[in-house]
Amino acid sequence: MKTIYFDYAATSPVRQEAMDAMLPYFQQHFGNSGSIHDVGTRAHQAIELARKQVATALGASSPREIIFTSSGTEANNLAIIGAARYASRFNKGNHVITSQIEHPAVLEACRFLEREGFDVTYLPVDSTGQVAVEDVIQALTDQTILVSIMAANNEVGTIQPIKEISQHLRQSPALLHTDAVQYFGKVPFTVSELGVDLLTIGSHKIYGPKGAAALFVRKGVQLDPILFGGGQERALRPSTLNTPSIVGFGVASLLASKEAKAESIRLTTLRDYCWKRLQEEIGSVTLNGHDTHRLPNNLNLSFHQVEGQAILLELNRKQIYVSSGSACSSGKHQASHVLKAMGKSDDIAYQSLRVSFGKETSKEEIDFFIDELKAVLHYLRSLIPAE
Ligand SMILES: *Cc1c(COP(=O)(O)O)cnc(C)c1O
Repeated sequence: MKTIYFDYAATSPVRQEAMDAMLPYFQQHFGNSGSIHDVGTRAHQAIELARKQVATALGASSPREIIFTSSGTEANNLAIIGAARYASRFNKGNHVITSQIEHPAVLEACRFLEREGFDVTYLPVDSTGQVAVEDVIQALTDQTILVSIMAANNEVGTIQPIKEISQHLRQSPALLHTDAVQYFGKVPFTVSELGVDLLTIGSHKIYGPKGAAALFVRKGVQLDPILFGGGQERALRPSTLNTPSIVGFGVASLLASKEAKAESIRLTTLRDYCWKRLQEEIGSVTLNGHDTHRLPNNLNLSFHQVEGQAILLELNRKQIYVSSGSACSSGKHQASHVLKAMGKSDDIAYQSLRVSFGKETSKEEIDFFIDELKAVLHYLRSLIPAE
């Protein structure tokens, strides 16, 4: 039986080009990029090439604007805590604006800042998961140092109006950060087009290896580090660089940006085909998120009367891999904070299922998925006692 992986929003396999590029850096060129000798220099040169590749992929004006970190989580923490600490050290203000639907890597960093004495505004979203630009403007005060709004949501795929937000922030000294971990590679963009000061991307969501990510830091933007040690990454991110992962990340980034336009068109067609068939053939299903301002590879669905997790487990038995919208933590069911912020009922939240497509996804896979899903839903709904 073939397996179908529809969970690319969780992580993706390493593409061959990235794999081939990184392999020599495990054994042959294993050096510490900080060492002066030739073994170190080879690692250093490989990292600087990757930095150029990431800078090119993002349309940054210089490779110096790229800081490598170990993960998207770390890059988000560095952007938020780093910007806040620097600003407060120079008495520039103590207020941060974010949204209620951010990834935990942003939300928890903001909660940490609150414990450190900062004020944080968590903006609401509408029923499609979008932040209103006017709400951002209204929340601004003369104390606001940072606005952090994700480019696209990892659960429901809703795309935020980052360009519009940045245009309105032009008169404000507040920095704009966006978590573009899901957005990058799915929608073509450059950092100057978006008008952001800080932007996070991660390697393992774009067919690169785990253990590498980057924070774009616009020239002139100052941050304090959140780790302390040596002088690597302009002392913003000390510790020996993860050469193999960074090399693979560089290659994957460049290819992701080159392929983003074609891939966004291809995936949008597949996504819309899948949603059309689901509506026509299954019914009793709600699409969570925005109809059009949504990631090309994301469908967040609530099948009425059936829990998402039950569907996930039945599909798993058939080697079809998807994600449920509600997290099962410490044995307790937790409704998604994103769906709750969108005003969805607990029922809709527990019913939600996230299907995310990627490079290997084909129409044939979707056809197979829909047939199997029909059988799963038929079975699960047959278990519901008649009223
Ligand atoms: C995956 C993800 C992260 C976290 O990235 P890691 O590299 O897994 O730490 C942050 N933000 C978004 C939107 C994500 O999808």
